[in-house]
Amino acid sequence: MRTPVIAGNWKMNKTVAEAVALASEIKERVAGVENVKVIVCPVFTAVKSVADVLKGSNVKVGAQDMYWETSGAYTGEVSGEMLLEAGAEYVIIGHSERRQYFGETNETVNKKLKKALSIGLKPIVCIGETLADREAGTTEAVVGKQVKEGFVGLTAEEMKGTIIAYEPVWAIGTGKTATAEQAEAVHAFVRNLVAQLWDKETADTVIIQYGGSMKPENVASLLAQPDIDGGLIGGAALKADSFEKLVKF
Ligand code: PEP
Repeated sequence: MRTPVIAGNWKMNKTVAEAVALASEIKERVAGVENVKVIVCPVFTAVKSVADVLKGSNVKVGAQDMYWETSGAYTGEVSGEMLLEAGAEYVIIGHSERRQYFGETNETVNKKLKKALSIGLKPIVCIGETLADREAGTTEAVVGKQVKEGFVGLTAEEMKGTIIAYEPVWAIGTGKTATAEQAEAVHAFVRNLVAQLWDKETADTVIIQYGGSMKPENVASLLAQPDIDGGLIGGAALKADSFEKLVKF
């Protein structure tokens, strides 16, 4: 069986002091939880401090992006190796905000993904359609292309070590959640596609999280779906109280 993964994407929020305080509170509140994997993803500048606070606990640390080179003349970028050194175990790749505002493409996602896997940084790769895609009836085509192009060249083992986050763009930060049925339909489509492109065992193993206005009120119905294995959460992950409720769904 797949262990659900609840990950908080703090986006560009929290000073280092605030991030440390939130991480400390989350650590206390979810101590002892074993049936769910818990991850928090602070801004780059807080990764080390948060990782230090969470060391030895059941809450793991992820970064929100990375570059595919190790070091060099890439002003403003941060490498996967640097994130590992700072204490990150996970990294979000291809979040829709990065695709929308920072030119991230399926090709750059693929380069980052391969690099992360090659150095032992565990990737959480975001996919999802826009409202225009959904209204045009192209959700499966768009999401399918993101999987085919974003994950191209991965072995079955690498695929099993990759977390997929299905995040319909129209549901992110909007308060509009996909219904459990809408989300499940896409999750099942993605899992079937993974079975076709790799194999059934890989499809049965890979974690597919849902993301998009997930909150304590809707988490149980979403996670009751057979192909939804957890959540990537923005807004509701910024408060220890609501994040605890999500972890203890
Ligand atoms: C996200 O940023 O990945 C996200 C799902 O945000 P929110 O929960 O705020 O919709």
